Amino acid sequence: MPGPYVVPVHGDEELPKACDVVVIGGGIIGASTALELAERGLRVTLCEKGGIGHEQSSRNWGWVRISMRDPREVPLMAESLRIWDGLDARTGRDTGFKRAGIIFTCANEKELAEHDRWRSNLEGYQIESRMLSVGEFTNLFPGSRLGMAGALHTPADGRAEPQRAAPAIAEAARDKGATILTECAVRGIELSAGAISGVVTERGPIACQAVVLAGGAWSSLFSGRFGIDLPQLKVMNSVLRTKPLEGGPEQTVWAKDFAIRKRQDGGYTVASGYDNIVDIVPASFRYAKDFLPALRSEWKSLLFRFGGRFLDEARIPRHWSLDEASPFEYDRVLDPVPSKKRQDKALADLTAAFPIFAKAEIAQRWAGYIDVTPDAVPVISGVESIPGFHIATGFSGHGFGIGPAAGRLMADIVTGRPPIVDPTAFRLSRFRDGSKIELISGV
Ligand SMILES: Cc1cc2nc3c(=O)[nH]c(=O)nc-3n(C[C@H](O)[C@H](O)[C@H](O)COP(=O)(O)OP(=O)(O)OC[C@H]3O[C@@H](n4cnc5c(N)ncnc54)[C@H](O)[C@@H]3O)c2cc1C
Repeated sequence: MPGPYVVPVHGDEELPKACDVVVIGGGIIGASTALELAERGLRVTLCEKGGIGHEQSSRNWGWVRISMRDPREVPLMAESLRIWDGLDARTGRDTGFKRAGIIFTCANEKELAEHDRWRSNLEGYQIESRMLSVGEFTNLFPGSRLGMAGALHTPADGRAEPQRAAPAIAEAARDKGATILTECAVRGIELSAGAISGVVTERGPIACQAVVLAGGAWSSLFSGRFGIDLPQLKVMNSVLRTKPLEGGPEQTVWAKDFAIRKRQDGGYTVASGYDNIVDIVPASFRYAKDFLPALRSEWKSLLFRFGGRFLDEARIPRHWSLDEASPFEYDRVLDPVPSKKRQDKALADLTAAFPIFAKAEIAQRWAGYIDVTPDAVPVISGVESIPGFHIATGFSGHGFGIGPAAGRLMADIVTGRPPIVDPTAFRLSRFRDGSKIELISGV
């Protein structure tokens, strides 16, 4: 498979005729939802069109952070950190989770004040997070030459291994009785009296009472086929990993020009802290109005590109019949070509800041498409127009860390249990009911 090596999950052979819940998408969100539902005794089938975790969930930086989150996500992320603490024991597998801390450096006094103000979002959570002076930062990293005004350090933040986590969670769901189907795209849903009665997969139908769509960057296309308007676009980020390197930072570090996370193998995952490429595609025009506020505040970090991707996406049908191959069967793994130029620049800027990286050897390069919503907050919600249909998507570059709790919240909504946090901010209807759509803060 292209992209980073992912711990392989072998799909089950037999397609169940019926189950309680079908989860569409085997990224960290779908896998976490499946595990929660299976642990509650429901019969669950997880359908993944490619391999478990092969899209965003294995390509990400591996940051598990509450720091600098949009305040609307903070309660759910606080739950997620707690879930990560017990995830290895719960799954019986190694996700690489470690509370190694995350440091956001501040280039100037304005950023320093903003980061300091952000800390008020943690009041009442007993999560340590404090500002570091330049002197304190230099004491932590004596070899550093990074110019800055100070930094925000959150020791309670963590890191985990993206190439291990979703597979570990999916395998644990299978241990609890879930069926895991790989190379098995869901073409669509079936309704009876307006409510969910099943799905049609490329291997045949499965009857069920509930469906969770956790399709990452594909969710808007899937929903649109069934009349659900889900504003969602994609942003590309390029990543490289180095071979093991002695003497680099233990903590995860963000600076304007680079972002690094130490890997379990002793190497580092390196990316630009800032540069994201936006391919202009037909959906860019469809959702232009929805994304205008986000574009206004984020345009400095976005590089717009018009090229082959426009034609590729223009060719994807938005309507298809359930008895013929769907677009999900033609593209098993989204595997964009990374920007070598931006990766090399990130590594060069990192080396200027931490000279130890002059010894770093590049082991691998890849890129990933991040699926984003207009307010950069996910949708974790039932769909009012189709009873039994639920959506958990749009994690906007922050879904790996929050994934385990997002799965718990989705399972609460599906089973009608009191939700672990108030899900109002994550409702799908906010985009079309006249609510003010705001991009609040965060990275
Ligand atoms: C480069 C990069 C860096 C990032 N860094 C971080 C980070 O450090 N920390 C963090 O918290 N987040 C980070 N993110 C974001 C994070 O990776 C995502 O938010 C998260 O992985 C989303 O998980 P998901 O399960 O929703 O989507 P995905 O992992 O994309 O999974 C969706 C799955 O659904 C499948 N699918 C879609 N349609 C169908 C269908 N019809 N039938 C069957 N299967 C289907 C797809 O094949 C895919 O495997 C980063 C993302 C990228 C790309």
